[in-house]
This record gives sequence, structure tokens and C-alpha cells, in this order.
Amino acid sequence: MMASRVTAYIGIGANLGDARAQVEQALDSLKRLPQSRLTTQSSLFATAPVDAVGDDFINAVACLETELPAQALLEQLQALELAAGRERPFRNAPRTLDLDILLYGEQLIDTPSLTVPHPRLTQRAFVLIPLLQLDPFIVIPGAGSAHQFAPRVAGQGIRKL
Ligand code: ATP
Ligand code: CA
Ligand code: CA
Repeated sequence: MMASRVTAYIGIGANLGDARAQVEQALDSLKRLPQSRLTTQSSLFATAPVDAVGDDFINAVACLETELPAQALLEQLQALELAAGRERPFRNAPRTLDLDILLYGEQLIDTPSLTVPHPRLTQRAFVLIPLLQLDPFIVIPGAGSAHQFAPRVAGQGIRKL
């Protein structure tokens, strides 16, 4: 049987070490995920920390076509974070690499390890703006058109690189 293919959006962020190189390397690694194909990637953006501490972030969003189940995809992303030297000394600590599943098809997922759509997606310019760059008409299951949230994050500093 053929596994079903899902369009998943991945949020990428880094603000420790050479953040730009980390994000570029993460995009490269995402191209090599099993049972997946990276179809589009946003520009890189520089953003001031929101809900976090430390230096400015480099952020981007990637779009994958994947046959990996959501939990398996999360585990692949966590392996990439670990390989990039991710440590979690405290909540919202600066990080070498953060990979979040923003959307997984139209699915609403709520397990102890995974909440999709990402619950803070609509409040964060650094996710919303790159996501809208990839698809201005994208709909967030349970929340509606993503573009309606853009005015609310307009005050957050974000700069396209
Ligand atoms: P935030 O969730 O506010 O962006 P964070 O990315 O800094 O915070 P992490 O320390 O990277 O948080 O992740 C904590 C846990 O979040 C992970 O162990 C993972 O199981 C869980 N998690 C829940 N939903 C998701 C998701 N959609 N994508 C990635 N991780 C998720
Ligand atoms: Ca995150
Ligand atoms: Ca994360």
C-alpha cells in the first residue's frame, strides 16, 4: 500500500553560534529526510527574540511533501536539532537550532509530544511572515486564513535577508 503523502510546514530558528549557517544547514538536512521531499523554502529572516532570550534569531520556513507520520517527522527533526548541538538548559533558552512542525496537512494533533498546528504560530511574526511568503492563502486548521493574523504581529521586528 502506498503511504499517504502530506504537506507539512517546518519552522526553523537559531540564535546561538553562527545562526545563519545553522539555518542553511538545516534546510540542507531537510532535503535529505527519508520519505520526504523539500518543495519550497522561504527567505531567511532576522528577528528580535519573542518569548525567548539571547541574540536576534535567524528564521525560515520550509515546506515538505512527506510520507512520514507526524510523530516520526518530529523525531527526525529532533535528531537534526541534537546533531546541531541543541541543548535545553532552561525554557526558551538560546538555541543552535529549533525545528517545529507548524502544520501537518489539515490535521489537528494533540498528543503529549506534539501539538499541531503549532499553538503559537499565529502570534509570531517570525513564523507567520515566512509562511505567508510561501503561500499567501494558506489556511490554519481551526484558525482560518493565516493572513488575518498578520496585522497583529506587525509590531514585531522582522527583516528579510
Ligand atoms: P515553542 O513551542 O514555544 O516554539 P520551543 O520550540 O522552544 O517552544 P522546545 O524546547 O523546542 O520548545 O520543545 C519542547 C517540546 O515541544 C518538544 O519536546 C516537543 O515534544 C513538543 N512539541 C509539541 N508540539 C510540537 C510541534 N508542533 N513541533 C515541535 N515540537 C513540538
Ligand atoms: Ca519553537
Ligand atoms: Ca521546538
